Amino acid sequence: MARRCFVAANWKMNMTVSQALPFASQLATLTGGEAAEIAIAPPFVALLPVGQALLSSGVALAAQNCHAVSSGAYTGEVSAPMLADVGCRYVIVGHSERRQLFGETDSLVNEKAKAVLAAGLCPILCVGETLEEREQGKTLELISWQLQAGLAGISHESPMVIAYEPVWAIGTGKTATSAQAQEVHAHIREQLRKLWKEAAEQVRILYGGSMKASNAEDLMSQPDIDGGLVGGASLQFVEFAAIVEAAKKATGHKQQRNA
Ligand code: PEP
Repeated sequence: MARRCFVAANWKMNMTVSQALPFASQLATLTGGEAAEIAIAPPFVALLPVGQALLSSGVALAAQNCHAVSSGAYTGEVSAPMLADVGCRYVIVGHSERRQLFGETDSLVNEKAKAVLAAGLCPILCVGETLEEREQGKTLELISWQLQAGLAGISHESPMVIAYEPVWAIGTGKTATSAQAQEVHAHIREQLRKLWKEAAEQVRILYGGSMKASNAEDLMSQPDIDGGLVGGASLQFVEFAAIVEAAKKATGHKQQRNA
């Protein structure tokens, strides 16, 4: 059976609550149906109001980050149970901006993924190589390591979404070609088969890195690309809605191929 495509919007540090509210009402009109799942990850302060706007829609709420500990003296941090309490279903962990700008290590990302699971939520675990690593031919080795470290001690029965985000393609306008992305996604699936056996076939592997309406269907139609983690293009309704439509079409193509 084809995996249902999943499109997750990462707003990053964009949108005040006043801007987010009318936008969330528009997003609440999106429907993925059986063919696509949709989630929106606004900044922390907008989670509650955006969640309320999405309440009776089919669009899920996601967070962009969390702390690895559930409560305590961690000034300025937000825990996974707090995110569960405001209605999040997903939490992004290990985004390359967190790794590069905030020094997050693979072991911290692993602790965060475990905290997300302990709170009853699903991690979206990001992996990806820099341009330098790609040029040195280290992409697949690095991705294997990030996966192994990120999933250490996590049962194959846990809900999990992986996002492959080549760092050189994030926010740069440079998208990996569908063949380049598929090569890494197939490698991720292969690693998951080693780590998680049969469960590997159920795990959705999203592509992230300058995904837009014009390249989304081609990317998501690849056998191991099960959706997108979308940054810049998720801030424009028409563009994001078109990506959701592309996801539905991509699921349809895969169902036909598997029939
Ligand atoms: C992201 O932030 O996860 C991302 C993929 O950004 P963009 O789509 O802007 O490259």
